[in-house]
Amino acid sequence: MLEYTKKYVEKVALAAMLGFGLSACEPSTETKSPMNKDPEITALMEQMSVEDKVGQMTQVTLSMFMPNNQLDLDELKNAIVNKKVGSILNVNGTPLSIEEWHQLLTTIQDIATKETELKIPVLYGIDAIHGTTYTQGSTLFPHNIGMGATRNPALVKQAAKITAKETRASGIRWNFDPALGLARQPLWSRFEEMFGEATVLSSVMGSEAIKGYEEDGLDQITGVASCMKHYLGYSVPLSGKDRTPAYIPDVQMREIFLPPFEHAVNSGTSTVMINSGEINGIPVHASKYYLTDILRGELGFEGLAVTDWEDIIRLHSRHRVAATPKEAVKIAINAGIDMSMVPVDYSFFDYLVELVNEGQVPMARIDEAVYRILKLKADLGLFDNAYPEQEALANFGLEAYKTVALHAARESITLLKNEKQTLPFSPDTKVLLMGPAANNLGSLHGSWSYTWQGQDESQFPEGSMTLKDAFEAKIGTGNVISNSTNNFEDPANTSVSFLKKNAAKANVIVLAIGEKSYAESPGGIHDLNLEDNQIELVQAAYATGKPVVLLLAQGRPRVISKIADGAEAIVNLYRPASQGALATVEILYGEVNPSGRLPFSYPRYSGDVVLYDRKSTEEVTELVPDSYGGGGYNPQWEFGYGLSYSTFEYGNLQLDKTKYSLNDQIKVSIDITNTSDRDGKLAVDLFVSDLYASVTPSYKKLKKFAKEEFKAGETKTISFTLDSTDLEFINASSEKTVEAGEFSVSVADQKINFILE
Ligand code: BGC
Repeated sequence: MLEYTKKYVEKVALAAMLGFGLSACEPSTETKSPMNKDPEITALMEQMSVEDKVGQMTQVTLSMFMPNNQLDLDELKNAIVNKKVGSILNVNGTPLSIEEWHQLLTTIQDIATKETELKIPVLYGIDAIHGTTYTQGSTLFPHNIGMGATRNPALVKQAAKITAKETRASGIRWNFDPALGLARQPLWSRFEEMFGEATVLSSVMGSEAIKGYEEDGLDQITGVASCMKHYLGYSVPLSGKDRTPAYIPDVQMREIFLPPFEHAVNSGTSTVMINSGEINGIPVHASKYYLTDILRGELGFEGLAVTDWEDIIRLHSRHRVAATPKEAVKIAINAGIDMSMVPVDYSFFDYLVELVNEGQVPMARIDEAVYRILKLKADLGLFDNAYPEQEALANFGLEAYKTVALHAARESITLLKNEKQTLPFSPDTKVLLMGPAANNLGSLHGSWSYTWQGQDESQFPEGSMTLKDAFEAKIGTGNVISNSTNNFEDPANTSVSFLKKNAAKANVIVLAIGEKSYAESPGGIHDLNLEDNQIELVQAAYATGKPVVLLLAQGRPRVISKIADGAEAIVNLYRPASQGALATVEILYGEVNPSGRLPFSYPRYSGDVVLYDRKSTEEVTELVPDSYGGGGYNPQWEFGYGLSYSTFEYGNLQLDKTKYSLNDQIKVSIDITNTSDRDGKLAVDLFVSDLYASVTPSYKKLKKFAKEEFKAGETKTISFTLDSTDLEFINASSEKTVEAGEFSVSVADQKINFILE
């Protein structure tokens, strides 16, 4: 088999060999060629003591200065003046008004630039996830899992640009976003923060988000520094529980999980946040292999690396690779960490000062980290003006932002089933609306929605619509029968007796089921199956004989195989956020034609989590005894599935040649016709399969996707261009490789083969 292996990865196998152990105690010295240093920063660093430098590397949380929800000015001063803290993050529980943000940041920057000797401004960081999470009245967009379903990168970028504007208007210039893991472990509570199961979705959408945040310029009032996270391999904990161990072979790491970060670096992301978990027994915060050899050496990343929450001390207290907290600091900094999100005490500062003075952490490592921090502060314009920018205020809360959020929700919502043309409803359809998500904002918004857990209904902006509100606005209160309350867990929302009593009055029963809002570890579950009380409600609805429509408001695909058959229609909403209720009702009543496509394989059984890019060997082939039934890829709905009110036909899939050589471009085209009398948008996924390879090939891999509008009856030719990078895989020596041989390209039901010579 002819093999093309890229030169630039020649060192990879060696790095893997050297770095896979806990080599973190060896200080990292082999970052890329030194960048051209900014002389002003270098001059500033010459005036800095060890304490000044370590202070810059320290990030603490706002709640340290707000013990009773009141800002303790003395504590704040102690942090900035005495402990020389360079960065602060977070919000104290609930979102602030824009005026409160301005006040707070003005106080912080006043202390930093007027009361300290070096006058270095504070870098404030926040989680503006799917919108400016912690500012009252901000616009929230569908979570990334829904954005992946849109297959529309332009929407991702627009949403990120708006988030940048609203965050900067709040006076904050550093956003801990985007999350570039993959939605491949459906139990995981952060599934909704990922763009989907396919590497290319995370690569393309993540890069668009980064451009949206940064491309106007970090010193502009429309830009913020982005933060690719959580580097690396966070999203596939074996147990499904957040921050528990992952086991990822290097081949898979490089093929599936690393590319989104590589794209993010190439798209210019300024910072990176590290995975709190451990991979193959090595905590990522302790891994020089991941933090320096790959991140700096291979990806060439020059920006700032911040830890995740408390993750240095946890090398001692949780991962137990450091015998003392001080050793934890030594391991992490020598492995390549630049800034510690400590964030609830000053232990990091004290230990690191000692370690530097004892020569256990080299000054060169400190200088490298501090340079990156100060460079980011300079790039963000903080040295010129550290204060919230008044001109940026005009960019907050514009009506136009709602339109983008509405478009995103419309394009994300995915129609999974529609029998007997139940949808769209006729305008006079009278609805019995029940289910825990029917009158609840949290389940439509998910994590990071005005509060961390997104559950505090009182914090959502006035005018935020639940599904019940949107139905009532659409068809009038008299046509919506509902007893739904805004407490997701209220038994009234799943009351079978209410359902039975009222079913006869309605034409259709709509049940909004799914998951309450949750974030991170508190969102852990024991069972992927939807809860029994919701299943029972749905079964009771089927027993009435009325048509039933299920709306799934959920962050991850909860198994519904017991109830999927009985419903006339099923619509996956994901976490559609601020305009989600409106978009849902528009789709149900046919004003909007749905176009979302599943960005993951929707499991049929919790024991059958097989992904779209499975290996052929994931099919069970032993015939006798075949107790398993062949299984393999048997999801409830396949990756890429999603219906429309239009119908589409695919034909004439063509390649410009039948044989290619390595440097050729491969031109693919397909004719698609909207065979219905309704205009509609269609997402087109293109897959490539390598038929034979020296590492067992995937059944197929998503390589390109597009979204197009088709008028009723219209035929369009959609074209894609592939190149050799789309044919690559990681070989057994951890190298990017292309092997000659036969490949196939497929789009929907069309497939065509070609030879790479
Ligand atoms: C999360 C990060 C987040 C950080 C700061 C952590 O618990 O894992 O995604 O950026 O907190 O809030």
